[in-house]
Amino acid sequence: MHKSTTIKAKAIKETMSCKLCLKDKKLVRQSHIIPAFMYKDIFDEKHRLFEVTVTKDKDIIKDRLRQTGANEGQILCQSCDNEVLGKLERYASLVLFGGVPIKLQNITDVKGMKYTLCEEIDYAKFKLFILSLLWRASISKLPDYNNVNLGPHEDKIRQMILNSNSGGPIKYPCVMASYRNLKEAPHQFIGSPGLVKDGDGFRYLFLIGGVLYIFYVSHHNIPDWADECAINSNGELKLLHLTKKGASAVFKNFIGVDLLNN
Ligand SMILES: [Zn+2]
Repeated sequence: MHKSTTIKAKAIKETMSCKLCLKDKKLVRQSHIIPAFMYKDIFDEKHRLFEVTVTKDKDIIKDRLRQTGANEGQILCQSCDNEVLGKLERYASLVLFGGVPIKLQNITDVKGMKYTLCEEIDYAKFKLFILSLLWRASISKLPDYNNVNLGPHEDKIRQMILNSNSGGPIKYPCVMASYRNLKEAPHQFIGSPGLVKDGDGFRYLFLIGGVLYIFYVSHHNIPDWADECAINSNGELKLLHLTKKGASAVFKNFIGVDLLNN
């Protein structure tokens, strides 16, 4: 009697429902919320666009940064973690850090706005990868992701990821802006995601490895420029280059300190 109770209890513990496929399966012990490769310098090595320097500031804030991007157990089954998300991660890693031929061109527009035009990206894979970061942060119970709660959008994005349905470009667009052009800024900074509400719209801000990701979740208040910068179905995206003033505002927003003393 006692023995069978123990076995039953153990069996229950080993199968829980996976947050992505919703099936009762054995879940993996550790899943990344933010994949480890994203700590690296974007467009590094052969892909390099910006001069990357390691600053003193990086050491000062290192302890605080390492808390984010942590692992979380018992959320995904092996198949969802390794295959569904793993496939997206492998592709995004090749785009961001080299391995697939994409075109990169630095452009200054007539208004003086600087950006890198990235072309020949696989829209579906990249879009779903980016969305998976938002979704993972939303399902996470880690304190760093407390601000991310997608509500009804959580299940919509879950289905998009699970069914490889990337939706149209204006469905949950994400604008990427980098301050890697600023040598004095700490590039390996990863901050806790934040929520910004204005009017009846809201968006989430993630700061990962020197890149600010702005996710427009609600259908309202998505500015035209955001739609123009987010990845489109031709596989083009504009990675904005933040000015020093813009980067200062980002740091103040994420850690309450202007690391650039602007
Ligand atoms: Zn699963």
